[in-house]
Amino acid sequence: MTRPVHIVLVYQSLLGIYGDRGNATVLTKRLQWRGIENTLTVAEPGDPLPDDADLYLLGGGEDGAQTTAVRLLTEEGTLHRAAERGSVVFGVCAGYQILGTTFTVGEMDRVMPGLGLLDVSTRRGTTRAVGEVLTRLRPLPGDVSPLAGDDALVTGFENHGGFTTLGADALPLADVEIGIGNGDATRTEGAIQGSVIGTYPHGPVLARNPALADFLLETALGHRLDPLPRPEIDKLRQERIGTIRRSSRG
Ligand code: GLN
Repeated sequence: MTRPVHIVLVYQSLLGIYGDRGNATVLTKRLQWRGIENTLTVAEPGDPLPDDADLYLLGGGEDGAQTTAVRLLTEEGTLHRAAERGSVVFGVCAGYQILGTTFTVGEMDRVMPGLGLLDVSTRRGTTRAVGEVLTRLRPLPGDVSPLAGDDALVTGFENHGGFTTLGADALPLADVEIGIGNGDATRTEGAIQGSVIGTYPHGPVLARNPALADFLLETALGHRLDPLPRPEIDKLRQERIGTIRRSSRG
């Protein structure tokens, strides 16, 4: 019997403008379909984040909101304790950037400190990355049977001006086939360091890519979960992958 899972959605009023709260819905649904009890806490600025959760989710947002979120999360320290004990901290776009060491905001590119949970830093890129992105997940640390073939493909919608460089302690999450991703010379996307994971695609990304959702759940629980065959989701994924590849050929 798998123990109950506690998920925390962090600061929707700051990091909630791209619909990434759908990632929480996907995780709770996938647990429910497997008969695993779960609780979802939506924590807003001013609320203490629960200290006992298995997964913390951060979404996309604007520069000002990123700065406020870092200040509040640094003051209260829950995410740092969570990362230390191996709970999953998953950030999308602005949420990804603030998990890093530094990021820039505003027209003057002011350098702001991040939470320092991922060894990545973000600076304004040469262009704004806007559009569909297609990446291939790398074999992830500790994964004994990594995803292969089309199962390892991730689709989503990216919309960011910041480009992210990985330091020595962070590993790329995926390689970019179409789109910009981190915007680095090696064409990688996202980063992972222990149980802290960041990625650019919205969608919500876990709705489009259930295998990534299960990877997060399995990392949080420390064991494998039974697969959930959903032919209709596989069909939708194939359609999206085909559309992105066709449209990128112009
Ligand atoms: N403000 C950040 C950027 O433009 C993040 C945007 C987002 O979360 N989509 O890089």
